[in-house]
Amino acid sequence: MIQEYQLRVLPEQAANEQSLKQYISREKGLDARTIQALRILKRSIDARQRTIYVNIKVRAYINELPQDDAWQRTEYPNVEGKPKVIVVGAGPSGLFAALRLIESGIRPIVIERGKNVRERKKDIARISREHKVNTESNYSFGEGGAGAYSDGKLYTRSKKRGNVDKILNVFCQHGASTTILSDAHPHIGTDKLPQVIENMRNTILRCGGEVHFETRMESLLLSHGKVRGIITHTGQTFTGPVILATGHSARDVYRWLYNNKVEMETKGLAIGVRLEHPSLLIDQIQYHSQNGRGNYLPAAEYSFVTQVDGRGVYSFCMCPGGFVVPAASGPRQIVVNGMSPSNRNSKWSNSGMVVELHPEDLTEESLFGLCQTFIHSAKESGDSNNDLYQEILHDNAHPLAMMCLQEALEAACWQQGNMRQTAPAQRMADFTRKKLSYDLPESSYSPGLVSSPLHFWLPSFISNRLNKGFLQFGRTSNGFLTNDAVMIGVETRTSAPVRITRHPETLQHITIKGLFPCGEGAGYAGGIVSAGIDGERCAEAAAAYLAASE
Ligand SMILES: Cc1cc2nc3c(=O)[nH]c(=O)nc-3n(C[C@H](O)[C@H](O)[C@H](O)COP(=O)(O)OP(=O)(O)OC[C@H]3O[C@@H](n4cnc5c(N)ncnc54)[C@H](O)[C@@H]3O)c2cc1C
Repeated sequence: MIQEYQLRVLPEQAANEQSLKQYISREKGLDARTIQALRILKRSIDARQRTIYVNIKVRAYINELPQDDAWQRTEYPNVEGKPKVIVVGAGPSGLFAALRLIESGIRPIVIERGKNVRERKKDIARISREHKVNTESNYSFGEGGAGAYSDGKLYTRSKKRGNVDKILNVFCQHGASTTILSDAHPHIGTDKLPQVIENMRNTILRCGGEVHFETRMESLLLSHGKVRGIITHTGQTFTGPVILATGHSARDVYRWLYNNKVEMETKGLAIGVRLEHPSLLIDQIQYHSQNGRGNYLPAAEYSFVTQVDGRGVYSFCMCPGGFVVPAASGPRQIVVNGMSPSNRNSKWSNSGMVVELHPEDLTEESLFGLCQTFIHSAKESGDSNNDLYQEILHDNAHPLAMMCLQEALEAACWQQGNMRQTAPAQRMADFTRKKLSYDLPESSYSPGLVSSPLHFWLPSFISNRLNKGFLQFGRTSNGFLTNDAVMIGVETRTSAPVRITRHPETLQHITIKGLFPCGEGAGYAGGIVSAGIDGERCAEAAAAYLAASE
């Protein structure tokens, strides 16, 4: 017999299957020995009151065992010799596109500039150890994309539950824990993600797809309003329709598109800092207890949002029990981000604290001035890459205007960080008092921190709003605004700075047939799950395109 129960239990009662079985047998008058298995269908923590509860929807198998997997299997047929589609980028959108192509009987040819997910780890370690960023292999580039060495949080604002479930089930089929199917805030963890990604690659290869690492798409082959394929950095040509899933850090791709008159538009994004607290402090605040999370609760999460002077100020990509990481993808830049292991057990909890920016904000003095300085110094140093930014000085609706702001801020941060990956940082309360921090707290950011007056050199458009936002968050959450927390500069890559315009139904580029701008870099996703969903959609669109052109 199978029974489903909706339970509201204490954390210790929800701690493991055995304690939950005992609870159910007691409450429902069952003999615990008859409960053969439990399957958690939904699980969330209710920490609104002093007593913390765990809400659980559970399926109990009484005198019988489950007959099926906890996740739904997708069948991947052999696609050797089938029509092919090129997928540029092996981030979440590219990988899910490739798998969905296989489902549709199409052979994916995956082109990835970075290394495989294991090799990549060595380059990531080198950033902290030697302050050297490999421009092809870092936190953004390489197998698994920006999602590989991340928290692996899998929440999304997508309302289409079916699409989200598909992505989560595919992750489970490739080795992710089935808890992601039931947790209200699922996450995989940076220690588990590489194996899942490797398994996804193996499915692609086993079915007859191709994956080319350390192969950078240099240009698209365009003729008569149609994409014919791509050319790689070694001059190799791959022909076929193209799913362009290169992520938001591939600035060379954006530049190529702009120089070759491929239509795109600038878009708003959010910029700020990483804020790091001791995780005990966040646990104490969120779980209303001096003891913190105790033995049965996970590291606590938070979420803040407010409006300051017409712009949103909010926490972003919170990593409980995690690390702040150096996420630069090029020289002379500092970019920070956050990740956490599956057990989220580090001594720190961090989140992005960011201010919403619209393209028209670039005319504001502090933002425009920063871009101006950056553009002038790029010109003086003969950086031909940035020649095209000259146009931005006269046109803030320029497609690459927001990308210029990102670069300008990352370069300023690198200067402040002594031209290494040591990130400029300031204690939180000092920042709100406009005071340089005398010293800094211990931090998870492994390249090291340097005390810096962020209140002074961050554009006032951002720092003033952050300041007011922090004061407000401190009022709503007692203890949150504290000098035990440190702000680390800068968080600039919260989403893509451009949108590569595509047709809303065919998902093809608005003027180029057979080109499918995809995922976060194209401006159609923000996060692992939504990138995966967009990858699947682009694969379906590419399959329809191939079928129509047969
Ligand atoms: C440290 C960190 C932590 C994060 N944590 C989370 C989280 O917990 N939850 C969440 O939802 N999101 C998180 N994110 C964001 C998330 O990773 C991205 O939203 C997601 O990866 C976007 O997927 P994508 O496939 O569109 O692009 P990407 O993941 O950026 O992948 C793009 C891929 O394209 C490749 N590429 C680029 N240019 C070329 C080229 N010219 N030729 C060939 N290949 C190319 C890159 O190497 C890369 O592998 C995090 C990001 C970072 C950096």
